[in-house]
Amino acid sequence: MEELIQLTPLCSGALHQQYLRCGKSNCRCHDKKSPQPHGPYFLWARRINGKQVNRTLRPGAKLDRVREGILNYERMQRLLDQLVRAEESRILEDEEFTKDPGKKNFKPRSRRH
Ligand SMILES: [Zn+2]
Repeated sequence: MEELIQLTPLCSGALHQQYLRCGKSNCRCHDKKSPQPHGPYFLWARRINGKQVNRTLRPGAKLDRVREGILNYERMQRLLDQLVRAEESRILEDEEFTKDPGKKNFKPRSRRH
């Protein structure tokens, strides 16, 4: 659990690298022979209450934090999975412990139709 709390920064979603064309038709990004689109920009897409929310980020400290946050989010999910598996097996062990040996001869009742 301590490991979970130490995961910061924490960001959901994913980053997509993009190169964009601007509105100026005489710009290098519209060059017919060798177009040089602007970028890279990074689209940070995440879901909030079921709705996709996009933010465009340029390379820099903020982008680095988001990237690190997404990696931490994946780590958090793995840790959470481990925690859930451990809790589940603990429940199953408890069940094993309280199991009535007489139940081995238990016959299932005929199901109603
Ligand atoms: Zn341009």
